[in-house]
Amino acid sequence: MAVLEIKDLHVSIEDKEILKGVNLVINTNEIHAIMGPNGTGKSTLSAAIMGHPNYEVTQGEVLLDGVNLLELEVDERARAGVFLAMQYPSEIPGITNAEFMRAAMNSGKEDEDKISVMDFITKLDEKMALLDMSEEMAERYLNEGFSGGEKKRNEILQLLMLEPTFAILDEIDSGLDIDALKVVSKGINEMRGENFGALIITHYQRLLNYITPDVVHIMMDGRVVKTGDADLARRLEAEGYAGISAELGIEL
Ligand code: ADP
Ligand code: MG
Ligand code: MG
Repeated sequence: MAVLEIKDLHVSIEDKEILKGVNLVINTNEIHAIMGPNGTGKSTLSAAIMGHPNYEVTQGEVLLDGVNLLELEVDERARAGVFLAMQYPSEIPGITNAEFMRAAMNSGKEDEDKISVMDFITKLDEKMALLDMSEEMAERYLNEGFSGGEKKRNEILQLLMLEPTFAILDEIDSGLDIDALKVVSKGINEMRGENFGALIITHYQRLLNYITPDVVHIMMDGRVVKTGDADLARRLEAEGYAGISAELGIEL
């Protein structure tokens, strides 16, 4: 079992405090969802954990089994076992999708621990079939000319190939049609198990019809203001954020 602990995390952008003390504990074998209105700091949370230079951590820690990820270089964070899918995945010209994934899988490993070309191809074929992806996607340059839906599908492919201990998935559902949403959900559900935990960040409840979270957190104004089970997401669907904000006396 592994544990990802976000402790009293404060993050500022250009001297404006966005996250005002976020606390979360995610164990492997658990899927957590963070929901919240726009502009509340959800993407800031994932960007800070991933080490985006514009996001200044002013206080707090993000511990993976006791190791503070915030003190590691960004590539070391990934190697420690954290996968971060960005809301807007970037294009990397000149590298094919398959090359990128194999490099990422082998990064920091001794030669004898690297995945062989044959094993890589076998695994890639299997995961691409699961996600209904055409083989040609593997040979395309990373994210170049990918549609929004293809980028999201591709992120889930990377997730299945890299098999991180924890994944933080920011708005993996935005802009997806229902078929793509189902495929993305299938991939995340495929990862579920004793050696995997996830934090799914979403504005909408829709994704959670396909991935039933174990724990749901509501974020408002830079803090986690309420935590519950999957019923909390259903309640949001019915009431919107207004119901929760009125209950807690928080202005939206
Ligand atoms: P969410 O993902 O919940 O919609 P964000 O984390 O993207 O919210 O944004 C939180 C707040 O930070 C918002 O008020 C937003 O305007 C502000 N913000 C985000 N990015 C920047 C930036 N690059 N510069 C200044 N303010 C930003
Ligand atoms: Mg936003
Ligand atoms: Mg966001």
